[in-house]
Amino acid sequence: MRDVAAVAHPLEAGGILVGVYSESTPWVTHALQIPSLDVGPAHYVVPAGITRRLVKCARQIDSRIGYLGEWHVHPDDVGPSLTDLRTMRKVGRAQEEPRPLLIVVRRTSDDHVLDARQLVWGQLRKLEIVLCGGLESIDSEPPDPNPTS
Ligand SMILES: [Zn+2]
Repeated sequence: MRDVAAVAHPLEAGGILVGVYSESTPWVTHALQIPSLDVGPAHYVVPAGITRRLVKCARQIDSRIGYLGEWHVHPDDVGPSLTDLRTMRKVGRAQEEPRPLLIVVRRTSDDHVLDARQLVWGQLRKLEIVLCGGLESIDSEPPDPNPTS
């Protein structure tokens, strides 16, 4: 996401977040970049209709993965806007994830920082980001003892 932000500057860029829940904690495994024609220095819109198709593709690679939320770049050091909050409320109603994540990649004076939030009771609650690597390989799961059921 930081690399995308650096290349896209001074425009916004973004995409969707996919992954799993580990107990009640969201675990982002992939941040998918989605090019958009509806983009500028102060807005980025995920193209309509692409989210479900991308999540379906991700599930073909790993069936455990699902939609978790969205991410986009802010070319300035500002957090989620009121528009972002409204968008995430719409996302929460439209997607199968009622508590979607939002990661805003904020440009600071010398770097980009990730500002993670989750829609909880209609508000964007700040989350702590913990780097924990990818999921265990699906091949390492024990074989299904009853594969025909
Ligand atoms: Zn924003």
